[in-house]
Amino acid sequence: MSDAQHDVIVIGGGPGGYAAALYGASAGLDVAVVEQHKVGGTCLHVGCIPAKELLEAAAVYRTVAGAAEFGVSAGEPSLDWSAVLDRKQQVIDKMMAGLSSVIKQRKVTVYPGVGSLGPSGTVQVAAADGSGLTLLAGSIILASGSVPRTIGGFDVDGELVVTSDELFSISRLPASAAVIGGGAIGCEFASMMGDLGTEVTVLEALPNILTGCDTEVAKTVRRSFRKRGIEVHTGVTVHGHEPRPDRSGTVVSFGEGKQVDVEMVVVAVGRRPRTEGLGLEAAGIELDGRGFVAVDDRCRTTAPGVWAVGDVVDSPQLAHTAFAEGMLVIRDILGEDPNPLDYHGTPWCIYCHPEVAFAGHTEQSAVDAGFDVVTSIHRYMANGRAQILGETDGLVKVVAEKQADGTGGRILGVHMAGPWVTEQLGQAYLAVNWEATAADVAGLIQPHPTMSELFGETVLSLTGRSLHG
Ligand code: FAD
Ligand code: NAD
Repeated sequence: MSDAQHDVIVIGGGPGGYAAALYGASAGLDVAVVEQHKVGGTCLHVGCIPAKELLEAAAVYRTVAGAAEFGVSAGEPSLDWSAVLDRKQQVIDKMMAGLSSVIKQRKVTVYPGVGSLGPSGTVQVAAADGSGLTLLAGSIILASGSVPRTIGGFDVDGELVVTSDELFSISRLPASAAVIGGGAIGCEFASMMGDLGTEVTVLEALPNILTGCDTEVAKTVRRSFRKRGIEVHTGVTVHGHEPRPDRSGTVVSFGEGKQVDVEMVVVAVGRRPRTEGLGLEAAGIELDGRGFVAVDDRCRTTAPGVWAVGDVVDSPQLAHTAFAEGMLVIRDILGEDPNPLDYHGTPWCIYCHPEVAFAGHTEQSAVDAGFDVVTSIHRYMANGRAQILGETDGLVKVVAEKQADGTGGRILGVHMAGPWVTEQLGQAYLAVNWEATAADVAGLIQPHPTMSELFGETVLSLTGRSLHG
C-alpha cells in the first residue's frame, strides 16, 4: 500500500533533482521531489550562487579601491561583512522564491523529509516530525548530491576550521586564513577573501593549483594571486594544526617543517557523493570503486527503474552537468532514445580573479589523445576593451588539430583566464562542441571593442595570417 503515486519520484531537490522535476513536468509527467532541507540544494544555498555573490562583493571592493585611476574619488573602501552576507542571502532568497514558484506552477509535489528506496518501486519519506510516507512510482531518480570531504586532524567546528558549508555564514571575515586545497573552491575562496583583506595562504598537495586547467591558465591565476599577496604553496602535505590556547587562531603545519599561524582554516579538498541512508544495497544499486553510484551512459543504475544524476555520480561535479543529466534521464524515461552526454566538451567556469573558463582538450590532453596539435595564445594586454577596463591580466589559448601545412584545423579546446571570461566562453564552447575549424571561426565577425575579440584574433592567427597579434 502506498500513500501516493507519481510517474517519477526524485530524491533530492538540488540542480539535478529539480531539473529532472521541472523538465519532466513540462513534458507532462506527474513528478514528486523528496527534499530533506531546501530545494535548490548545494548550488543555491551553499555553493555556486553564494560563492559568486561574495566574489562580486570582492570585485566591487577592487573597483572602489582602484577608482582613483579613473579620476573618480571614492575614498578608501571599507567592508561591512554583515551587509555582505545580507545581500548574499537576499539573492538566495529571491532565487529560492522563483524556484519555488515555478515548481508550484508545474504542479511538482514536494515532500519534505529524508527519502530512501523501499521495496518494489517505493520511496519511503521520513519527515522531521517523525511521521512517514510510502510513495510509489514507475521511475525513481536519485539526486542526493555531495558533501564536502574532510581531512584527518581538521575537525570542522565552524569557527577555527570550516568547509564551504560553514564559510557562507561566518560572523566575521578572518584577518588571516589557510585554504587547504587549490581547486575550484579553494581558488574562489582564496581570491574572494584575499581581495576583501584577509591574508590568505593556499596549501595544495599537487604540483599545481587548478588541476585540470591548462598550465598557462593556472600560471596566470597563480601570478595574479602572488601580485595580490595571496601566498600559494604547491606540492605540500598538510600535517595538522595546533589551536592557540584561547582558540583565537591556529598554527597549521605543512611541508618540510613549515608553519602558518592563521585565524581560520578553510578545508576545500573536494566533495564526496552523498550515498548513505538511501537504501541502495537492499535495492541492488551498486557503487563504483570511488563510492559514486554506478551508472551507464544514460544515468541508469544497476536497479531497473532507478536512475542517478548530479554529484552522486562520477561526472563533472557541476550544476550544469546535473541539469543536463536530469533532462537526459527524463528523455530516457519517456523512451526518446537520447544521445549520451559528451562530458569531454563540458564548459568549466571558475570565478576567482582573474576568472577561468575552458572547454575541450588542454594542449597536453590533446597530445595524450594522439592529436598532432598547434596552439595560439593571445593576451588581454593587447585588447582595447580590457585596457579600458584596466583588467589586462590573462590570455586566450586555442588548441587545434595541426593540418599538413601547419595551420590549425578542428578546434579541440579553448582555455581562457582574464576579465569576464566566464561570460566569453559561450562562442568557444560552441566552436569546440560543434567541431568547428579555425577557418570556420576566423571568417566570422567579432564586435569591436569587446574582450571577445581576443578569441577571434587567437583563432585567426591559427590560419597562418593575423591582424593585431
Ligand atoms: P546538490 O546540489 O548537493 O543537491 C542535493 C539535494 O539532495 C540537497 O538539497 C539535499 O538536501 C538533498 N538530499 C540528499 N539526500 C537526501 C535524501 N535522502 N532525502 C531527501 N533529500 C536529500 N557548480 C557549478 O556548475 N558552478 C559553480 O560556480 C559552482 N560553484 C560551487 C561553489 C561551491 C562552494 C560548491 C560547494 C559547489 C559549487 N558548484 C558549482 C557545484 C554544484 O553546487 C554542484 O555540482 C551541484 O549543486 C550538484 O547538484 P546535485 O543536484 O547533484 O546535488
Ligand atoms: P577540487 O577537486 O576542484 O579541488 C580539491 C583540491 O584539493 C585538489 O587540487 C586536491 O589536489 C587538493 N587536495 C586534496 N587533498 C588535499 C590535502 N590533504 N592537502 C592539500 N590539498 C589537497 O575540489 P573543490 O575545490 O573542493 O570543489 C569540489 C567540486 O565542486 C569541484 O570539483 C567542482 O566540480 C565544483 N565546484 C565548481 C566551481 C565552479 O564551477 N566555479 C566552483 C567550486 C566548486
